[in-house]
Amino acid sequence: MEPHQDQHEFIFRSKLPDIYIPDHLPLHTYCFENLSQFKDRPCLINGADGVTYTYAEVEHTARKVAAGLDKLGIKQGDVIMLLLQNCPEFVFAFLGASYVGAVITTANPFYTPAEVAKQAKASNAKLIISQSAYVDKVKDFAKENDLNVMCIDSPPEGFLHFSQLTQADENDIPAVKINADDVVALPYSSGTTGLPKGVMLTHRGLVTSVAQQVDGDNPNLYFHREDVLLCILPLFHIYSLNSVLLCGLRVGAAILIMQKFEIVKLLELVEKYKVTVAPFVPPIVLAIAKSPEVQNYNLSSIRIVMSGAAPMGKELEDAVRAKLPDAKLGQGYGMTEAGPVLSMCLAFAKEPFEIKSGACGTVVRNAEMKIVDPETGASLPRNQAGEICIRGRQIMKGYVNDPEATEITIDKDGWLHTGDIGFIDYDDELFIVDRLKELIKYKGFQVAPAELEAMLIAHPNISDAAVVSMQDEAAGEVPVAFVVKSNGSKISEEDIKQYISRQVVFYKRISRVFFTDAIPKAPSGKILRKDLRTRLAEGLAN
Ligand code: AMP
Repeated sequence: MEPHQDQHEFIFRSKLPDIYIPDHLPLHTYCFENLSQFKDRPCLINGADGVTYTYAEVEHTARKVAAGLDKLGIKQGDVIMLLLQNCPEFVFAFLGASYVGAVITTANPFYTPAEVAKQAKASNAKLIISQSAYVDKVKDFAKENDLNVMCIDSPPEGFLHFSQLTQADENDIPAVKINADDVVALPYSSGTTGLPKGVMLTHRGLVTSVAQQVDGDNPNLYFHREDVLLCILPLFHIYSLNSVLLCGLRVGAAILIMQKFEIVKLLELVEKYKVTVAPFVPPIVLAIAKSPEVQNYNLSSIRIVMSGAAPMGKELEDAVRAKLPDAKLGQGYGMTEAGPVLSMCLAFAKEPFEIKSGACGTVVRNAEMKIVDPETGASLPRNQAGEICIRGRQIMKGYVNDPEATEITIDKDGWLHTGDIGFIDYDDELFIVDRLKELIKYKGFQVAPAELEAMLIAHPNISDAAVVSMQDEAAGEVPVAFVVKSNGSKISEEDIKQYISRQVVFYKRISRVFFTDAIPKAPSGKILRKDLRTRLAEGLAN
């Protein structure tokens, strides 16, 4: 299909026709719309203990949690932070919050106390739901701010227990009028520039995104009711929350929850529960491609392996295809701000399309994509690389309390600028070739250079600093720092690494430090990161 040309714009759409997508339903209503058809089927299977919850049980528990939240004083629009590993309670809390019109902000439980406090403060969280292993991280912040902290397992003294919510009477659920435009999820992302910001995802936005993936005349685009989805990717990241949990709930699939990645445990669970759909990130695909254990398990139930959140090269795709010959493998492309899915692999469709290695799929239905020249802003035809932009009801409402950053990311015509560079070929397939934005992706996790630079510059022995990505086989990318020492300072690479490690989660740790006389900057003061990356590539960093 030729791109639609409107006032000299090249606009690309899905190869599949648009579908009807409800634009008025709250997220939980939409997810449970077809519940009567599968209420007794398994919904959540906890891989840790084998406990299974049916769809009816999950809905009832979510309603009880909603009533319990109301009793606790949580009001419509209030923010609740989930600081949890993957677990059934994550799902109950997320859905319960949706019922009462509250907003869930998700945080990585491995964050340092300072990182958790920063997000809890920025999001104005009224309640934190966590587990005993992590509550220590929020103790001080909660005390200073008179905040309730709830534990899903044995809470230390002074903390609430999650059962307080699940024991509420579901008939006490408050009558709230939820507008489709209300925010329901507030993940944090640094986007194209600067520090992490709260990404406002609305009921309508998430309903649209889920529908784009699993609804419509060509259903089963990804999943269907008989599927068993592996939920190994962290639910605190929007990829897993949306494309695994919410899509799974919508179609009535069984969702197998795993807390952390361990290759043997993963293989055991896949065999035991006959997992059919395995959403991964490239480092997990790599582990499977390399693991000698794979041959000891029967993995033939897997029909789909999805990969997203970071680039996956053709060689890795081919290696995993050889290991899992019965599965179809395809990449999707997401960005938190985009809701998150921009493009998906059509090899999984009921009437599959041929796909090429290295492609990130085709733009989702009910959306428009264009590729623009980053210098001129002009839209580009097929096969020409430029910045990927997307428009549609699934994209974020904006960054919370940050109209300036919102304006930089979503232009006046409603196009969200991703900061990724790619092109669309003659078969409508999208290829990502570079990244314009600052973001570093360590195994799919976000590292915002601005956050590390602010810490570096705050050190008395450092007068200037810049952080860029360096390629790494295991992690994809790692952050490295260019540092200008203060006059007379004897600070070492090791000192700097330790100074940062104390303040950040493991994947934001600086992998190398290169001392330099000056950080290259544009007259506007903007760091010329490309120059630094070139220095790295040419081995001139030292
Ligand atoms: P996040 O908001 O954490 O999901 O990160 C979004 C960013 O991850 C995108 O803007 C891309 O830079 C990168 N990304 C996501 N999916 C892919 C993919 N399939 N290939 C290459 N990069 C990707």
